[in-house]
Amino acid sequence: MNLIIIGAQGSGKGTQASLLVERLGLRHVSSGDIFRSAIQNGTELGMQAKSYIDRGDLVPDSLTIHLILALLSEPEYSSGVALDGFPRTRDQAQALDQALPQMQKTIDYAIYLNVPQEKLLDRLLNRYVCEAHQHVYNIRSKPPITAGICDIDGSKLIQRSDDNPENIKHRLHIFFQQTIQVTHFYRAQKKLIEVDGDQPITKVSADIFEAMGLQSEFVA
Ligand code: ADP
Repeated sequence: MNLIIIGAQGSGKGTQASLLVERLGLRHVSSGDIFRSAIQNGTELGMQAKSYIDRGDLVPDSLTIHLILALLSEPEYSSGVALDGFPRTRDQAQALDQALPQMQKTIDYAIYLNVPQEKLLDRLLNRYVCEAHQHVYNIRSKPPITAGICDIDGSKLIQRSDDNPENIKHRLHIFFQQTIQVTHFYRAQKKLIEVDGDQPITKVSADIFEAMGLQSEFVA
């Protein structure tokens, strides 16, 4: 199974992607994580992507499309992926659509986590990630057991450098202007599952599984 998870910044996209990956045995492909690790490792790609990410802009399609498509054609991704953060523009969605047949892949569902804009800003300002593996927490809705420490790997919780108020507003604007078009693209293909993302994590997950006709570990 190949899935796309679409959601604005702070919609819970990464959290739901992780739950789907675990439950369905998929590979998690997070374009944001790929860019962040490229920046951390000082690669050519990282250097090219950094200025865009620091400004809250999208990395150009010319860089992003090639990167993700090359990754997806590797054998380890052949048994199914959950795409988190890609495609984010109509051109990326079209490029993915054209490339998939050569890889003998199709997209089964595009899952859109719909959260009202005013809720997102509040969630993002309270978002922390762990230094070691970017496990995501929210001071209000999903706090760690020990303040400031990741439950999973014990590393320190920090705010992402691009999670500052001005940058967040800019990224949300781009989402509702551009990325929302990706939902129209998959709705036209009858592959879109739209879920109310303004609910507890377990309920959102249960709704997703129900819409896919699968049994959830969480009861809907
Ligand atoms: P968020 O959803 O909070 O913006 P991500 O981790 O998904 O966080 O992405 C971080 C940044 O990486 C984005 O702001 C953007 O600059 C870049 N990025 C990630 N995915 C893409 C993509 N598909 N196309 C262009 N830029 C991307």
